[in-house]
Amino acid sequence: MRITALAGGVGGARFLRGLRSHLDGLGDGPHELTVIGNTGDDITLFGLRVCPDLDTLLYTLGGGVKESQGWGRAGETHVVQGELAAYGAQPQWFALGDRDFATHIARSQWLGQGRSLSEVTALLAQRWGLSEQGVRLLPMSDSPVETHVVIDRGDGETEAVHFQEWWVRHQAGVPAQRFVALGMDRAAAASGVLEAIRGADVVLLPPSNPVVSIGIILGVPGVRDALRGTAAPVVGVSPLIAGAPVRGHADACLAAIGVEASAQAVAGLYADFLDGWVVDPADAECRVKGARLAVHDGPLLMRDVASAAHIAGTALDLALSLRS
Ligand code: GDP
Ligand code: CA
Repeated sequence: MRITALAGGVGGARFLRGLRSHLDGLGDGPHELTVIGNTGDDITLFGLRVCPDLDTLLYTLGGGVKESQGWGRAGETHVVQGELAAYGAQPQWFALGDRDFATHIARSQWLGQGRSLSEVTALLAQRWGLSEQGVRLLPMSDSPVETHVVIDRGDGETEAVHFQEWWVRHQAGVPAQRFVALGMDRAAAASGVLEAIRGADVVLLPPSNPVVSIGIILGVPGVRDALRGTAAPVVGVSPLIAGAPVRGHADACLAAIGVEASAQAVAGLYADFLDGWVVDPADAECRVKGARLAVHDGPLLMRDVASAAHIAGTALDLALSLRS
């Protein structure tokens, strides 16, 4: 089976680790899993290229993530960050651990040698054993795209800040007026991205942020058309339970684009290509206009690998039931 998934960071990575575990349990492999990662969160800090969502996917699938946090490395230390702070080097609001720094240094060195982000991501993935698991991680695009957030400066003027500044520094506490994906007008899908959607047997949307993770990937030229056109069933899992995000600030992101925070409204964002939608029993009433959409409910809280595997299995079974 060829499965293609679009993914942000923590929600995407936990779901996909569960999917891997579910596929292992089926024992009828090998199955091929292509993950298209959001790079709109990427940022250059201290001269280093940081790709938070790709790194969360690498660390989680590779067994190196700090589990309690959902991102960053297990067993992390912060010596370098302390030294940077001693010099007064900015910014200090973005946490980078020593182990994590090595990822950004290696990535930046390889990018500096002229390699594409796809090539660099494949090199990083070797260390985490992704191909041994049948997983191929692709950035959505090789050209830099950075999500910026237009916020009120407080003096009647607006300003655009990098997504990370809004999300991490301001904890999404300053109302966002809109999101701008800088560089998207010049971006193209990375090699293999559109092919992976068109040639898949099943396409899955993990419970990633619908605006700043999945929404950004959908803005990459050709991606949305490929989802509309693929013969594969497209099945998504709601990132909201009973109208609230499980973690993070998806509700603030939805408010910025004028969409209600509900499983139903999120499905509405994908209505032109979505075939199946998995919601929590708390949202079982979810009815999305266009009766074509198959809605299935089951507990959607990913407490551990086993519960994430169960959710992934539910999404996969729904997709397979829609295949004929
Ligand atoms: P980020 O880039 O690290 O923010 O991660 P993603 O975009 O991949 O995922 C963020 C979304 O995952 C948030 O909107 C959360 O509500 C959702 N999420 C996190 N944990 C869970 C969970 O256990 N169940 C469900 N259904 N959604 C979750
Ligand atoms: Ca992210």
